[in-house]
Amino acid sequence: MPFNDPSLDAAPSILKRGLWVFVATTLLVVWGATAAFLFVYRDRLIRSATDELVQLNSVVAQHTSATFTLLETDLRMVDRWLQAHQGADPLNDPAFVATLDEMRQLSRGLIDILVVTTDGKLHAIPDATRHPVADVHDREYFLAQTAPQTQDGKPDLFVGDPVLGRAAGRWRIPVSLRTGADGTGYRMILGVIELERLTELHEQWRLKEKGSILLVRTDGHLLSRAPLDPRLMGMDLSRLPSYPKGENLEHGTYQSDSLASDGARRILAYERIAGYPLYTVVTRGFDEALVPFQRLRWILLTVAGVLSALLLVFASIIRRNQRVLFRAQRTLRRIALVDELTQVMNRRAFMLQADREYARARRQGEPLALLMIDIDHFKDINDHHGHAAGDEVLRGVAAAWGDALRGHDLLGRLGGEEFGVLLPKTTPDAAGLIAERLRQLTEAASVSPSVPALRLSVSIGVGWLEAGDKGCSPVLSRADQALYRAKEQGRNRVERQP
Ligand code: GH3
Ligand code: MG
Ligand code: MG
Repeated sequence: MPFNDPSLDAAPSILKRGLWVFVATTLLVVWGATAAFLFVYRDRLIRSATDELVQLNSVVAQHTSATFTLLETDLRMVDRWLQAHQGADPLNDPAFVATLDEMRQLSRGLIDILVVTTDGKLHAIPDATRHPVADVHDREYFLAQTAPQTQDGKPDLFVGDPVLGRAAGRWRIPVSLRTGADGTGYRMILGVIELERLTELHEQWRLKEKGSILLVRTDGHLLSRAPLDPRLMGMDLSRLPSYPKGENLEHGTYQSDSLASDGARRILAYERIAGYPLYTVVTRGFDEALVPFQRLRWILLTVAGVLSALLLVFASIIRRNQRVLFRAQRTLRRIALVDELTQVMNRRAFMLQADREYARARRQGEPLALLMIDIDHFKDINDHHGHAAGDEVLRGVAAAWGDALRGHDLLGRLGGEEFGVLLPKTTPDAAGLIAERLRQLTEAASVSPSVPALRLSVSIGVGWLEAGDKGCSPVLSRADQALYRAKEQGRNRVERQP
């Protein structure tokens, strides 16, 4: 019955598991916090990039509104002039030409005003030769103004798709107004917005590199785009899946990866221009808005990764040290509590167990008995067969007794060839029987393989717990006295305490 008290296992499992629980929790906190921070930061960044875009769009929208208002004012002024000067020649009237020049200058080259005859001939002002600069009878903006006037008699403005001017050779947004001056030979006044000039302005405002500024007609036709891309002019954006749907959209923001030809994801803000069939749309590259996020993400992920690696390295070093320490503790406890030769409890462990059993017996009101066993004439065995054989005998009897005892009985070597047995929940009579069984067993057993014929006997003293005992010592000393008597009375016998 080798002594295997669980208390020998010195490393509490809480310590072993605790280390990994700590590591796992720390990793979880580090990565959780990193992920949460990055998520919130990215969200904030997108929101503030969108807010910025809305502000920029409002500047663009104000400028667009001002430009179209100026253009409309110019067109209506020209219309009134034509009506008021039925006989005059608008192409060469000095006062009229001067007014138009003033209008052009006021717009800083953004706007030009021309007139179109009833048969679709476009005339610049001034025009001394009276030669039309182009024939525009097939243009959308001309055809749109052949329809009858609106009911209130006020001619409508028509904003057309951008055209490559037949005379100018430049991209322009045409805005036509049917003139109310019948009989002058002119059908309409044409205002044009120079796209190069407009996109030059927008180019200064747009958010580089991927950002753009667009003018879009309410039916989705693209009127202008900075950066300028002639291939996209007049394109119907409303066919794109991401184009905002719904009636009377005033303003809003969204994300899309299909509005521009390059397929890059963008954030967009749009705003309706009051009084005109127009939207301004300002965009910026989604990835560009997230550049600070990308940078921070790499830094944070690297820091978290390095921290995690360090933590794991430290934890495994601690774990290895723990293992060494636990093993040393286990060895020390074994040395402190187990008898080296017989592998049963040594005196110290036996006394500790005796105190425990005493306390339990008292608590539960159960009997407790104790045997003191001493091998008879052991000195002779040493003398005749040698010390090694003596050791063998000690090992042999301890093993034989351990096998014979019950699971909860406790065997210990108290010194030399003297052993103790704690018998919990055992009455004096039962203890006497057990002692007798051990004595007979020892007498019959061959406990020394190197001297198989060797027979030995033991003397046993039986003691038990009595009502007034404080601790186990009185039991021990009564059992010792009984053992002394057994020796005195001839050995190889069992004696009980008086
Ligand atoms: P008694 O019947 O009166 O008990 O006689 P005894 O010879 O058994 O008693 P004694 O106390 O005179 O001798 C005990 C001997 O046990 C003395 C010592 O040499 C021997 N002994 C003590 N420890 C060990 C040990 O670990 N190994 C061996 N081989 N002998 C031991
Ligand atoms: Mg002896
Ligand atoms: Mg002795």
